Amino acid sequence: MQVSKRLKNVTVGGSDGWGVFYRSRQMKAQGIPVVELTVGEHDIATDPEILKAMHQAGLDGYVGYQDFQGLLQLRERVADRVQRTTGVLTNPDQVLIVPGGQAGLFATHNLTCDEGDTALYIEPYYTTYPGTIRSVGGVPCAIQAHAANGFQPDPADIAKVASNARSLLINSPNNPTGVIYSQETMEGIAQVCRDEDLWLISDEVYDTQVWNGTHLSPRALPDMAERTLVIGSMSKSHAMTGSRIGWVVGPEEAVGYMGDLATHTTYGVPGFIQMAAVHALDMGSEFEARIAAPFRRRRDLVMGVLKGQNVVRAIPAEGAMYAMLDIRLTGMTGEEFAMEFLEAHHVAVMPGESFGAAAGGHLRVALTVADDRLEVALRQLLAFATERAARAAE
Ligand code: PMP
Repeated sequence: MQVSKRLKNVTVGGSDGWGVFYRSRQMKAQGIPVVELTVGEHDIATDPEILKAMHQAGLDGYVGYQDFQGLLQLRERVADRVQRTTGVLTNPDQVLIVPGGQAGLFATHNLTCDEGDTALYIEPYYTTYPGTIRSVGGVPCAIQAHAANGFQPDPADIAKVASNARSLLINSPNNPTGVIYSQETMEGIAQVCRDEDLWLISDEVYDTQVWNGTHLSPRALPDMAERTLVIGSMSKSHAMTGSRIGWVVGPEEAVGYMGDLATHTTYGVPGFIQMAAVHALDMGSEFEARIAAPFRRRRDLVMGVLKGQNVVRAIPAEGAMYAMLDIRLTGMTGEEFAMEFLEAHHVAVMPGESFGAAAGGHLRVALTVADDRLEVALRQLLAFATERAARAAE
């Protein structure tokens, strides 16, 4: 079969570390109960009030083709939200509605990269990043953020490789590390983008999950609105992963070009889903805080379970729905640990290596099961690590 090199390339090298995930799915299919702490998906369903609004919108006629850029009502809500949370004047023509943040990642890289152009991103990274860049013909180039720096990226490292690049993709609050970029990091990143004429693609899908410090959108920094494309999504903030609804905010002209892409790919997002999103955004920040609350509680639970020992060290998550655990004292790679732990205790966690080499020797634990089950799983993980660390020290 003859297929494009571009698509053949999308997943090249992208499956490292996913063995644990596939093995856990296989065990489940065989009827073995597995505690899955792998994927970032809530343990609650979309709120019935949002689903009722979706149903009602269908009955009200939102079932036909829609404006490719997105319904004005929803673009207005998004523009207001972005303006309120970042202070940057934003109008609905600077908003493109897309079927989820992932579609935003695709649209923004399509906008910014020609075939063969270098697109930068920070490692550890959300797993689809390099594949998304390859899918538009770009050449992914990772810049490592180091465990020793608490996984804050260093703008000087970015500057070293920026001169031939078109774009830089960042993600704060970060998946998988839980790190929120400091003001200093963000300002340094913005300076590199101005100096090297880079587009900054800012993935802010975890902007409601902030536990420590403050989330700073780089679009709010001086002269950055003209070169920043912000990706937002209702997947995490409103527990609407399956509705596939998100946005890109950027300069009006850029949004226009991405609108052309939407016309030739998705043909817009279903009207009833957009109206449900309008309803969900109107439920306000209190609702968003309610959706985020379990992850903050469970993040505290992780810190509590791991207190008073140093075999497993948690990177203190400042945001997002994951705990990143350093298990290097066991002498095992994240991949070895996760696989053996899965076989021994039927608990699935992601090896750090699946988010790039910079996260080697770590595990990412999604805080996505009830507190009591999470606590049992963590205690098992700690006992397993303690036993392995003792063996390694022999
Ligand atoms: N960016 C990051 C950092 C993510 O973790 C995810 C989902 N896990 C996405 C983007 C895409 O999410 P969605 O397409 O559901 O909005």
